[in-house]
Amino acid sequence: CGIVGYIGHQDAKDILLKGLEKLEYRGYDSAGIAVMNENGVHVFKEKGRIADLREVVDSNVDATKGIGHTRWATHGEPSCKNAHPHQSANKRFTIVHNGVIENYEQLKKEYLEGVELMSDTDTEIIVQLVSKFVEEGLSVEAAFAKTLALLHGSYAIGLLDEQDAETIYVAKNKSPLLVGVGLGFNVIASDAMAMLQVTDQFVELMDKEMVIVTKDAITIKELDGTVVEREPYTAELDA
Ligand code: GLU
Repeated sequence: CGIVGYIGHQDAKDILLKGLEKLEYRGYDSAGIAVMNENGVHVFKEKGRIADLREVVDSNVDATKGIGHTRWATHGEPSCKNAHPHQSANKRFTIVHNGVIENYEQLKKEYLEGVELMSDTDTEIIVQLVSKFVEEGLSVEAAFAKTLALLHGSYAIGLLDEQDAETIYVAKNKSPLLVGVGLGFNVIASDAMAMLQVTDQFVELMDKEMVIVTKDAITIKELDGTVVEREPYTAELDA
């Protein structure tokens, strides 16, 4: 299982699919991508291999921003319905997640009464919580931080907001995740190997950090908002 993300100026579909192929070694039963352009967010997902996902991705959708996922199911059977990305009920937010949210049942009971869930995954709880907190008046960043603080378990997360073309929201706890740095673009990946196709400069993330990724900047923060400075390193691997 693994996640990838890209924001920049090139075709995101291609970079995400190539990245996911490099992550297949981590195990998978299904895969998906979400790309975003001026017409909104487009989700493609499929049970099986990345090769199967490629067949359902509409090659006419041009987008320079997106997130992708290979799934190793922990909650909910392997199926197209349970494959990531998952969306909030109003479709504004779209998420990919690796890991396990141990308290998802409790969070569902406490905060999401009356929300109709579309999958059997623990992951969907995260995106529904962000959406709920935004509806209650928080900024997206504050809603994301509040949600992360409620989660028990492991996660590497990429989150898109349909109303914000500039940003991918990112976070990690006990699941691997790196931010890759480019000139006029930035990427995220569970493993540097997935993004060596576009950069060899990576910034390591620590548990319980969140990152605001735009095409020109990455801003790492602790959940209380404290900004963290960290320099990239050069990944020395063969692509
Ligand atoms: N727990 C999530 C699910 O079952 C993510 C699994 C993964 O890490 O691929 O959908």
